[in-house]
Amino acid sequence: MEILYEKVPEADRVTVCAADGLVVYDSAPISRQTGRYFVSQDVLAALSGQDIFRSAFQNEVFVSQMTVPIIVYGKVTGVLHISQYDSEQGKILLDLHTNLLMASFVIFLIALMLGLMISVMLTQRFTEFLKTIGIFSAGNYDYSMPVRGKGEMAEMAGKLNHLAEILKQTESSRQQFVADASHELKTPLASMKLLADSILQTPDMPQELIREFISDIGDETDRLSHMTETLLRLSKAEALGRQNTVIELAVVIRRAVRMLLPLAAGAEVELRCVLDDGCRIMGNEDDLYQIVFNLLDNAVKYNNSGGQVIVSCSGQDDKVCITVKDSGAGIPQKDLPSIFERFYRVDKARSRETGGTGLGLSIVAHITERMNGEISVESEFGAGSEFTVFFPSASP
Ligand code: ADP
Repeated sequence: MEILYEKVPEADRVTVCAADGLVVYDSAPISRQTGRYFVSQDVLAALSGQDIFRSAFQNEVFVSQMTVPIIVYGKVTGVLHISQYDSEQGKILLDLHTNLLMASFVIFLIALMLGLMISVMLTQRFTEFLKTIGIFSAGNYDYSMPVRGKGEMAEMAGKLNHLAEILKQTESSRQQFVADASHELKTPLASMKLLADSILQTPDMPQELIREFISDIGDETDRLSHMTETLLRLSKAEALGRQNTVIELAVVIRRAVRMLLPLAAGAEVELRCVLDDGCRIMGNEDDLYQIVFNLLDNAVKYNNSGGQVIVSCSGQDDKVCITVKDSGAGIPQKDLPSIFERFYRVDKARSRETGGTGLGLSIVAHITERMNGEISVESEFGAGSEFTVFFPSASP
């Protein structure tokens, strides 16, 4: 047994049991177990031939235990049990444990503070958003929300400001529209009142003049109803949700030409078609009819007696185009950028004569845009104009 103890000099306690569990040697200076039976799970396992190793951290000490059988001539004659108590390792483990606890606490505190900071920042930003939405809802679109840094919040602020800009433009065009519309409607109303007052205030007005004035009132009434009808059409043109189908351009153009033949004949204007069959677009047929009709109507109205209008349609690559060319009055270069605006008329006198309202081309431009098309115009004052509308083709 002495020899065994010398082979394991770092062991803190060495115990040797006989095959029946009787402790025959115990190195412990106090509470020596010699002469007693040492029966534990590990001893029983070692007696059955197994080597058992255990380590545990107990009472701030790191304990390692080894229980192995003593085999003599292939027969288990006893058990050797060695225990090592490493308080230094235990201290290291304890320090590690304490440090880990401290580190976890510090991390927790930092996370808590960061969380608080982020939530305060987010709350402030959301309050700013709410304030901005409130300002925009009150109709003040001049305000702009500060866009700070990058990321989703900055993007949202940018988008909100962009939305306000769109709302501002819409609001200003709405105000402009109301102002223009009331001005345009006021003019025929004022003329009617003037004519009616003249009749009432002149007791002995000749019958012929009275008839002439009443006929003028009738004309103004017609103009008013034409204008309100056109305004209604324009507001319809702006409404969304129309049903789209595949439309054959030539079919719609021929329908519009048929409708305008009497007007062209009356104005002594020749109306010619050069149409490629098979040009198709995706859209609403009534919308396309409105475009073609308005362009042809203008081409006839602003033409000269003996003049000519050629309407054509053709397709190239993934686009189709409609062209309305006339040999009429033409449009001065300075007016070209404005002719698609509501109520804009180049020659007010002529437009009034022909029953124009200055709304036709703005309707054309609106519908074209809604149908994902593009419109352009080329004109030479005194020589004629050419309007071209492009659409994405729906032909295979
Ligand atoms: P209107 O009802 O007055 O015809 P539009 O919006 O259709 O209104 O046209 C705006 C103005 O553009 C017209 O008043 C006219 O002066 C000019 N215009 C439009 N089409 C032509 C054209 N084909 N030839 C010459 N002038 C035109």
